[in-house]
Amino acid sequence: QFLSTTSKFSRQDTPRKAEADILDSTSELTRSDTLSDNLPVLTKAKGHYWYPSNGPKILDACGGAGVACLGHGRRDIIKAAIAQMKDCSYASYAHFKTSPAEELSDWLIESTGGKMQKVYIMCSGSEAMEAALKLAIEYFTWMGQPSRVNIIARDQSYHGTTLGSLSASGHVARREPFRGILLPSRFHHIPACNPYRQRLSLAESDASFVARKAAELEAEFQRLGPTTVAAVVLEPVVGAALGCVPAVPGYLAAMQAVCVRHGALLVLDEVMCGMGRTGTLHAWQSEELEGGGGERLATTVVPDLQTVAKGFAGGYQPASALLVGEKVAGVMRREGKMFTHGHTYQNHPVVAATALKVQRVVEKERLLENVRVQGRLLERLLRERLEGHPNVGDIRGKGLFWGIEFVRDKKTKEPFEPGQQIAQRVQRIAMRDFKVLIYHGQGCAGGGRGDHVMIMPAYNISSKLITEIVERVARAVEEVFR
Ligand code: PMP
Repeated sequence: QFLSTTSKFSRQDTPRKAEADILDSTSELTRSDTLSDNLPVLTKAKGHYWYPSNGPKILDACGGAGVACLGHGRRDIIKAAIAQMKDCSYASYAHFKTSPAEELSDWLIESTGGKMQKVYIMCSGSEAMEAALKLAIEYFTWMGQPSRVNIIARDQSYHGTTLGSLSASGHVARREPFRGILLPSRFHHIPACNPYRQRLSLAESDASFVARKAAELEAEFQRLGPTTVAAVVLEPVVGAALGCVPAVPGYLAAMQAVCVRHGALLVLDEVMCGMGRTGTLHAWQSEELEGGGGERLATTVVPDLQTVAKGFAGGYQPASALLVGEKVAGVMRREGKMFTHGHTYQNHPVVAATALKVQRVVEKERLLENVRVQGRLLERLLRERLEGHPNVGDIRGKGLFWGIEFVRDKKTKEPFEPGQQIAQRVQRIAMRDFKVLIYHGQGCAGGGRGDHVMIMPAYNISSKLITEIVERVARAVEEVFR
């Protein structure tokens, strides 16, 4: 029914042709124009469902790109946004403060126990990441260390679509068309933290794994010259690029220790995994809670710079933020330094008022608890239903942030060829035949190979809908491989 939509807006080909286009395309990215021509037209989104103009409602199991943390169309959020629009729909950040932006910043700072001390409110994850990279560089000019111009990030990472954030990203397909202009001389990549593919054996302990990872970072510092590195950029639970892969307990603390040893900043990209998605408001707080598990590797990890987006305003406004820790904010405060940066829509009052309301609802309805409870159910059902499937290599995640990696061979973990677009097929079949929206990605096995899908329901999801999601996704997976 979906693919037979013939709307003047969607300029839809015949169903068979559209399907063939999608399944034959060799790269999801180079074919994105064609794909968007084939997308259904959405007329409404309400609660946990999307309503396309032609066809039945679709169960939302991923909030788009992990955005809709409260579901869709909530009157209380809409009311707050409208009220703010009536009071003041825009304010130029360079001329005025507004109470929603001030209140939101104070709330965010408080949510970190005062560990982060300054907030810039922006509109997208890429903007926040770009700002984080620039602030790291500018900080070292204030500190009289202008030679710190190198950024270390990781393979199979995604930090945004602008030139700086894309330079930091280790995402092969997204970088490829822009190879000529990205900044390889300043951005460097070490291997990701991916225990499914990198543990030497099942018997390798977290401690040994983390020690190897820390050694990789240390070696990169030495290769570049430790005093030339401004920052290390990490996503605590890797989202789109790997498919919900949490850092091994102790990993973040070990990476931070290397940064501290060499005087570089730690930038945590929590655009996707932050703002409650993994069961704590900030993903780095869960590292703190776990404390390294049985091996007591980790104690505390506090980023120097942190970005948030997606669940920040739950999609009710385009919202992101850069949070600045004591080290950098302290210099700004004591020495009156100003970050040479700014966007027209920075600290936008409607964005701020909406994000604040979303966060108040998350707090009032104790939704982080629900994320943890439903997350455990989601994990259990996914494992029960799919772990034994011959093409499911790994199921991993945290909170309501779960990924399924598909492999050709379960024993060798050999991935499928990218041209087969397995993840994309699972996503399409899940939507077309089982009316559930999930998120798909490629490249999780390295070098552009590997397929995963991601399940990221809203924080107020019920057990009944979690059960429904798993059933529909499992049937889509079985159908594709059949
Ligand atoms: N960082 C991460 C970890 C992301 O997942 C994304 C978006 N998927 C971005 C940055 C970029 O955010 P945006 O698309 O809002 O610019």
